[in-house]
Amino acid sequence: MKILVSACLLGENCKYNGGNNYNKIVCELAKEHQMFPVCPEVLGGLSTPRCPSEIVNGVVMNKEGINVDREFHSGAEKALAIAKENQVDLAILQSRSPSCGVKEIYDGTFSGTKISGQGIFARMLREEGIRTVDVEDLGEQFSSITIILEADHI
Ligand code: SF4
Repeated sequence: MKILVSACLLGENCKYNGGNNYNKIVCELAKEHQMFPVCPEVLGGLSTPRCPSEIVNGVVMNKEGINVDREFHSGAEKALAIAKENQVDLAILQSRSPSCGVKEIYDGTFSGTKISGQGIFARMLREEGIRTVDVEDLGEQFSSITIILEADHI
């Protein structure tokens, strides 16, 4: 199976603070499936480390008040092109990111407050009909992709 994945989940140091979001289950899945790691923010030309960003009234702004909406959309479009070219079956994405968040994001006040919503890239994937899975919904019980695909609630 072909799986698009937030690159930080495979241990790539592309997170805003220069670290990663290594996830053991995702790395286990990578042994059996073809993975396509992407970081839409890096693809958009942003440096690592970088100032954290949130979606503020529909526009991506960084914590210093700089508008980075164009970079976020450009990177998401490049990552989406990779997903489409490779006809991925699903995408496993990092939680709450302004790019990759599947179910929740931060509310734009940089106060740690969460709201329902999607990141820029996750929303594009969904609009293209590509299934998005929040990595936090992968438990031991979802370590099989077949089970993930059969589960309606994630
Ligand atoms: S944009 Fe996505 S892949 Fe890149 S660091 Fe953030 S959560 Fe990870």
